[in-house]
Amino acid sequence: MDPRRIAGLLDAPGCRRRQALDAAQVDLGLLADAIGAPPGGQSPYARERDGTFTHLATARLPELVGRHLGIDCAAAVETSELPVGAGLWVWREPKLRLRDLPVTTDQIVLAGDGTHLFPVEIRSYACLDGHADPTKVAGTARELAVVVAALRQAAPVPERVSSRCLLVLPRNFGLAPVGTLLDVAPQVRRLGWSLDRLDAVDLPARLRVPELGGPALVDALAAVEARFGDGCPSCPMYTHCRQDAEQTGTVARAGGAAANLCGPVGTAVHALALAHGERTPSGEAEQAIADELARAAAAYGWATGGRSIP
Ligand code: SF4
Repeated sequence: MDPRRIAGLLDAPGCRRRQALDAAQVDLGLLADAIGAPPGGQSPYARERDGTFTHLATARLPELVGRHLGIDCAAAVETSELPVGAGLWVWREPKLRLRDLPVTTDQIVLAGDGTHLFPVEIRSYACLDGHADPTKVAGTARELAVVVAALRQAAPVPERVSSRCLLVLPRNFGLAPVGTLLDVAPQVRRLGWSLDRLDAVDLPARLRVPELGGPALVDALAAVEARFGDGCPSCPMYTHCRQDAEQTGTVARAGGAAANLCGPVGTAVHALALAHGERTPSGEAEQAIADELARAAAAYGWATGGRSIP
């Protein structure tokens, strides 16, 4: 699995459907296509721009590494093993694992000061007046956390792999590279938490063979519980799950805040019935949510001059 795929576990925490698909390494693009979700992906122009920027930024890496990490180094040296010492390296096709999962990536760029190794990442989204799109930076941080955790698993002294990473982006709308330091320690901790919960996830056999396609595949997908939330727009299954959430009246379709408030009460119909005292809570947890929803319904009625929640 590439780091982006494993980082998906952090992108959609709590979604068993995504966890199961990622753990079984199902090709999400293929699966989304098989169930009729619209295709995504980069345009040829964006891919070409990526390539050009990566080329330009690679040539400027020694200068950026010196400025942001204080490491005096020359052009990156190719290596086939985890490097040690001081310098700048490109580790081609590293053989890395994270727990039992293989981490497949073409290369990892590393800078070393003799004590620590720092991952270096080049991305082509813009840094405008010193600020990049926070959603994109968060996505990169999750992927870098996968790289840091896998490097620590491979390193004889894991602490020597730093969670501080150098992120290189194009300045404004041009192609001039600019560097910024990103500490992915919180993402590394969350990744460990997510991986601990992967073991118990199971997947219907039909989903492992997405070329089956059609309604049978959609049914198989429905058998795996989904948790629609904030990380969903970047998931290849987004359009399918959004449609599903709409058809089933899932509270999460109203946003993360509504989903958190309703906890295990998954549908809007049940939540409204609880709020109006028309449904008997099934246990203590549901009773607590019913009380909270009833208070919210009363506050809404008061604020709107006696009208109740429709
Ligand atoms: S889009 Fe669907 S599968 Fe992807 S994270 Fe959201 S609910 Fe889970």
